[in-house]
Amino acid sequence: MPEIRQNIATKEWVIIATERAKRPEDFTAEQRTPTHLRPPHVATCPFCPGNEPMTPPPSLVRTAADGSWQQRIVPNKFGALSPAAPAVRLEEGVARMTGGYGFHDVLIESPLHNTTTALLAPEEVAATLSALRDRARELARDERIAQIIPFKNHGESAGTSLEHPHCQMVSLPIVPSHIRQRLEEAMRYFDEHGTCVFCDMARLESEAAIRVVCEDEHFVAFIPYAAFSPFHTWILPRRHRSLFTQASDEELASLGNILKTTLLKLYRGLGDPHYNYMIRMAPLAYEKVHWSHWYLSIVPKVTRAAGFELGSGMYINTALPEESAAFLRAVTT
Ligand SMILES: [Zn+2]
Ligand SMILES: [Zn+2]
Repeated sequence: MPEIRQNIATKEWVIIATERAKRPEDFTAEQRTPTHLRPPHVATCPFCPGNEPMTPPPSLVRTAADGSWQQRIVPNKFGALSPAAPAVRLEEGVARMTGGYGFHDVLIESPLHNTTTALLAPEEVAATLSALRDRARELARDERIAQIIPFKNHGESAGTSLEHPHCQMVSLPIVPSHIRQRLEEAMRYFDEHGTCVFCDMARLESEAAIRVVCEDEHFVAFIPYAAFSPFHTWILPRRHRSLFTQASDEELASLGNILKTTLLKLYRGLGDPHYNYMIRMAPLAYEKVHWSHWYLSIVPKVTRAAGFELGSGMYINTALPEESAAFLRAVTT
């Protein structure tokens, strides 16, 4: 019978439609050229080595011993926000606006065109994460920036047409209401229980183990009890910190391995599915709160949101989280 499950952290409900449940392998991606079978260099790709003039000047470059770049952060050429926008605010009748001030960065994860995060070495994934963290730390010093959102779109159905491995980061002058709503739920949980709901979830999921994909001493990767789509995965740090900018080098080395392992399981188990990942964190001003906790969320694009989802803000998950997790645990990496 169907169940309506609630996520204790976000308070969001999801319908787990067990009678419609497919076997995990039924979510395998349609046939297309897998990433590793593409050419390693594409002359027209703006992110391939030799084409650096095609992007604006970088804000951060990580180089190898031979001087060649390994990661670059450049402004998005078609950025959603601009540091040149004025800091104005207007309220007049129904019109309420603030200048589109902010930053939209692109991080090129590798000089190689035919790779993806799942296929990189754990150290290369850790280098990407530490470049993101360092750039976020720099942007956090700008008092006009309220919220930073690092994310990755992998594949067309996840919102990118550029094949070259890259992720992005948008830094906003406002706090989105979706983030504020989740913060309020986390604060309410803290008021009721005296503990951080994410610290509790990391411990409880690790102990129960039935929804765990992989874990180590710093992180637990699991499919939440009320996951809103098949293979939707959370990677929670065990150490309580509200912001990703507070992650240590040791934690990021560990996350490089856990993220790579989780993505490789998806790559091998489901045939390189398109996905988004987001690094969720509190607004910058909430650095020291005891109730909000940063984490990474992966959403493989194996199903599509439709009218019911748009109309209700809730989802129907046709896969059982426990079965999806067992399937991923069994994929060798
Ligand atoms: Zn390229
Ligand atoms: Zn916590």
